[in-house]
Amino acid sequence: MAGEFALIERLLSQVRPDPNTQTNGLLLGPGDDCALIAPPAPGESFAITTDMLVEGTHFLHTDSPEDLGWKTLAVNLSDLAAMGATPRYVTLAAALLAGDESSAWVDQFFSGFTNCAQKHKVSLIGGDTTRGPRTFSVTAIGTVHPNQALRRSGAQDQDDIWISGTPGMAALGLAYKLGTTDLPVVLEQSTYKALHRPQPRIALGLSLAGLAHSCLDVSDGLLQDLGHIAQASGLAATLHNAALPPAPNLVDPALWQQCLLGGGDDYELLFTAPTSARSKIQTLSATLKLPLHRIGQMHADGKAGTITVLDIHQKPVDLSNLRHGFDHFA
Ligand SMILES: [Mg+2]
Repeated sequence: MAGEFALIERLLSQVRPDPNTQTNGLLLGPGDDCALIAPPAPGESFAITTDMLVEGTHFLHTDSPEDLGWKTLAVNLSDLAAMGATPRYVTLAAALLAGDESSAWVDQFFSGFTNCAQKHKVSLIGGDTTRGPRTFSVTAIGTVHPNQALRRSGAQDQDDIWISGTPGMAALGLAYKLGTTDLPVVLEQSTYKALHRPQPRIALGLSLAGLAHSCLDVSDGLLQDLGHIAQASGLAATLHNAALPPAPNLVDPALWQQCLLGGGDDYELLFTAPTSARSKIQTLSATLKLPLHRIGQMHADGKAGTITVLDIHQKPVDLSNLRHGFDHFA
């Protein structure tokens, strides 16, 4: 498309890679047919992930472009965090509307993207643009020792189940945005931030090496993503309703249950760890100033992949009305 080169150049000039190849391993930066990166440190492997955001499915035409730029990168870095990897490099492919290349919209998108890249010290090493419905695809590359990578298949019998932060806030923000619920003013900002400015839990992921047996980031909803760990690990899971983050003040408990268990877009880390790791995880929570909730257990009795939520009387909670998984704007 016309102006394609200038557009990518503009972005690359904002996220200029660190020229010190000794620290970042970048042997040849953007501008040639490929970038060249050095192999990771001995014993380490690359961790590579790709995620795509499409207008109308993952974001709306009216969304703030700066927030969108942030989120486009943040959701990819969240996948690296969920593996316990250190983010290193990213590439960005974008489909844009006619005229976007000279618009303030793109400048603001780049600004959000750049802020996220600088905060998490990743280098943009390549990109491409084409014309089409606005779509953004990032490939993120990190490094991790393969023995320390946090896989979803590693959960063990009697592991505690933990979740960071407050899952459900992003889905609550989405419900408010779509006009399906009202919110007290005090929650408008925090749910907006949860939905539009997710914070990849990179420091937590790195700290969980050697502590957690399994981990993933919650993008499709707590129950569905816990199901992924349970299935991959060949175990069942039990959650305790009383241990889950409670409904914020003035939020309908049924709506909160839907957002918390069946919502999505949280980008919090869901992980399992042996009971012997409890005090270390609590210390980690204080160090990182990040709430870590112990919400249930994995167990070998029961069909693999099944999840039961128990109330305070140890009776199963009826979840038949719960919608599972993040349905975006569908
Ligand atoms: Mg993920």
